[in-house]
Amino acid sequence: MNEAVLETIGLTRSFRQGDMTIQVLRGIDLRVAAGEIVGLLGPSGSGKSTLLQAAGLLEGGFGGSMRLIGREASRLDAAGRTQLRRDALGFVYQFHHLLPDFNASENVVLPQLIQGATRRTAADRATSLLGALGLGARLTHRPSQLSGGEQQRVAVARALANRPALVLADEPTGNLDEVTADLVFAEFLRLVREEGSAALVATHNERLAAKMDRVVRLHEGQLQ
Ligand code: ADP
Ligand code: MG
Repeated sequence: MNEAVLETIGLTRSFRQGDMTIQVLRGIDLRVAAGEIVGLLGPSGSGKSTLLQAAGLLEGGFGGSMRLIGREASRLDAAGRTQLRRDALGFVYQFHHLLPDFNASENVVLPQLIQGATRRTAADRATSLLGALGLGARLTHRPSQLSGGEQQRVAVARALANRPALVLADEPTGNLDEVTADLVFAEFLRLVREEGSAALVATHNERLAAKMDRVVRLHEGQLQ
């Protein structure tokens, strides 16, 4: 069996609202192996985004145990979470969240500079990733000068820029029309596979789910 890039045991997450506690994740046991692409399916409100946010270490407030690239995440402080997030993870969201004042190449270069890459290495990698996604002629376009499908492709390149062990994608093509969504999704899967990253991809689209290595189903905060 391949080593795990993500392993949760009894992962829980609840939110307080006034004096009520809403239990959203109710003990998730999930393992994603290196290089594996796993679909996270479930109806709206089942907890997909909450699970990805917990795995993404965006906040510390989860219960149970979670290991990312072999490191236990549950006891890390904010700085430790930031470090592990940078070492292990890439993110693609439903909306691209690109920096509007930077062009496509710069949006892929910046996270690499934060990780200590030289400008030259970072720019070469941005050119290569964007070229692999058919954006070779769009390197100096800003997000507002790109179509929705092109914006999501740049977001995919940015997520892969630092060679993450695991890409977390939350409805990555959910904002695109069906034809564009299928195209961008196919390119996303191809590039993730080429790069050897693993991915955990939330979607409620069964057609897209069928293209992944494996699917897990979330229902009211539990895997079925
Ligand atoms: P999905 O992504 O599957 O649609 P979410 O993870 O966004 O589901 O939400 C799951 C449940 O958790 C929903 O009932 C939602 O209202 C609740 N929830 C999510 N985030 C919060 C929050 N910050 N505070 C309170 N409830 C939340
Ligand atoms: Mg969601």
